[in-house]
Amino acid sequence: KAKAAGRDGFQFFTGEINFRAHARLALLEGIRKGIARNEFHLLYQPQVDMKTGRIFAVEALLRWTHPSLGLISPIQFIPLAEETGLIVPLGDWVLEEACRQNKEWQDAGLAPITVCVNVSARQFQDLNWPSRVLRTLDETGLPAECLELELTESLVMRDVDQAVKIMKDLQSAGVAFAIDDFGTGYSSLSALKTLPVSRLKLDQSFVRNLAEDEDDRTIAAAVISLGQKLNMKVIAEGVETDEQVTFLRNNNCDEMQGFHFSKPISSEGIESLLQAQEPKTSSGAIEGRQ
Ligand code: C2E
Ligand code: MG
Ligand code: MG
Ligand code: MG
Repeated sequence: KAKAAGRDGFQFFTGEINFRAHARLALLEGIRKGIARNEFHLLYQPQVDMKTGRIFAVEALLRWTHPSLGLISPIQFIPLAEETGLIVPLGDWVLEEACRQNKEWQDAGLAPITVCVNVSARQFQDLNWPSRVLRTLDETGLPAECLELELTESLVMRDVDQAVKIMKDLQSAGVAFAIDDFGTGYSSLSALKTLPVSRLKLDQSFVRNLAEDEDDRTIAAAVISLGQKLNMKVIAEGVETDEQVTFLRNNNCDEMQGFHFSKPISSEGIESLLQAQEPKTSSGAIEGRQ
C-alpha cells in the first residue's frame, strides 16, 4: 500500500514538472510573440515632490495583455523573461516606449518631467546596452536629463566597479540613476557612496506598516537621513495613507510615490494630471498668446 502511494506520488510529481515545464515554455513563447504583436504597454505612476506638491517624474511600469489569459502582472512574467534573457529585447522596448512617450508629453507643451525606467541585471550586463540607451535618447529626441534608470542593490553590488563605470558613462551624458527597493538587498555602504546615484527609493515593505511598526519607522527615518547625507533624494514607495504621508513628511522625506497620490495610469491619464498642474493664470501665458 505504501508502495502504491509512493508510485502515485511519483507520478503526480513528474506530472507536475511536465505541467510546469510546459506552462513555462508556453509563457516564453507568449512573451516572444507578444513583443511582435504589440501585446505590451506601459502604465505610468506619478512621483510627487513634497515641497511643491507637483508631479516631477513618473515611473514606467510594464503590462502585458495576453491574448487568452488577459492582463498579466509583471511579477508573473518578468522573472521568467530575466531567466531566459528575453528581458533584453523586452527592456529595449520599454525604454524606447517610455522615452518616446515622455518626448510626446514635452512636445505637447507640458512642463518637462523625468521618466523612470526599471532595468534588470541581464540588460545591465549586456555590453551594448549603454550605447543602446544613448541611441534611444538620440532617436526619440528626449533630453537625457529627462530619463532616470532604476537599478536594484543586488544588481549594482554584484560588481561595483563595473557598475560605477557603466553608470558614470551614462551619467556624463545626463542620465540619472535610482536605487529601487532600497533596504531589501545588501548594499555595502562604502560602495553606495561611490555610486553616481541621485535617488534612493525606500522600499514599500518599510512604508506599508509605518503606523503600527516602530522598527519600520526607525528604518524609514534612517534611510531618509542616510540618503540625504550622501546627497541623494529619498523617495518613499507604496505610500497609501495620510498617516504614512504625515510620518514621512515629518521625517523630511523629499518625494513620494504610491496609491495615495495615484495608481499607475495610462499616458492619457498622466497628460491630464500634468495639464491640471500647469500654472493656471500667469502673465507669461497671456503674453505668449499675443
Ligand atoms: P517596482 O519597480 O518596485 O515598482 C513599484 C511597484 O509597486 C509597481 O508594481 C506599482 O504598481 C506598485 N505600487 C505603487 N504604489 C503602490 C502602493 O501604494 N501600494 C501597493 N501595494 N503597490 C504599489 P507593478 O507595476 O506590479 O510592478 C512590479 C515590479 O515589476 C516592479 O517593482 C519592477 O520590479 C518590475 N517591473 C515593472 N515594470 C518593469 C519593466 O519595465 N522592466 C523591469 N525590468 N521590471 C519591471
Ligand atoms: Mg521601480
Ligand atoms: Mg520598488
Ligand atoms: Mg522591484
